[in-house]
Amino acid sequence: MFQPRSIKHCKLCGGAAVYAVPSDDNRERATCTVCATIHYENPINVVGTVPAWADQVLLCRRNIEPRHGFWTLPAGFLEMGESTAEGAVRETVEEAGAHIELQDLFTVLNVVRVGQLHLYYRARLLDTEFDPGPETIEARLFTEDQIPWEELAFRTVRETLKRYFEDRRQGRFGVHTADIG
Ligand SMILES: [Zn+2]
Repeated sequence: MFQPRSIKHCKLCGGAAVYAVPSDDNRERATCTVCATIHYENPINVVGTVPAWADQVLLCRRNIEPRHGFWTLPAGFLEMGESTAEGAVRETVEEAGAHIELQDLFTVLNVVRVGQLHLYYRARLLDTEFDPGPETIEARLFTEDQIPWEELAFRTVRETLKRYFEDRRQGRFGVHTADIG
């Protein structure tokens, strides 16, 4: 959950921060009472993939909180210094040990409530050898009717998978934007 007014201390000098509207701004920002640094807060980017092998999609069972034991598409926080595509590939390697060829952007999902933007790319699996990392209990392929819909970790994963199989039936993949409540 996005926590308003969560910054208590300056990231630079450790001084106390207060929320106030800077003179040239229109919303409250955490502002250091010592060095006057303004700490801007913006949504976090989450990047991931829909790795596909024929009519199957690769899911990972989470070995970490939140949603330990639930199934997810490989995804994680975009790091500084990498593009969204690079981040999506990295997360797929880290969480599933899967070998992929990245394809087009598939979903753009706003999760305003928690201050996150999720971007999923389609990806083609190059083989079915997986080597899950420590964040994953198990990685395996599912056809549409095998997907554990009630045991998916996040709504963004559910929405992405739903649209993926719909598009696959149509024989044409688009880019889908949605707001997740
Ligand atoms: Zn400061």
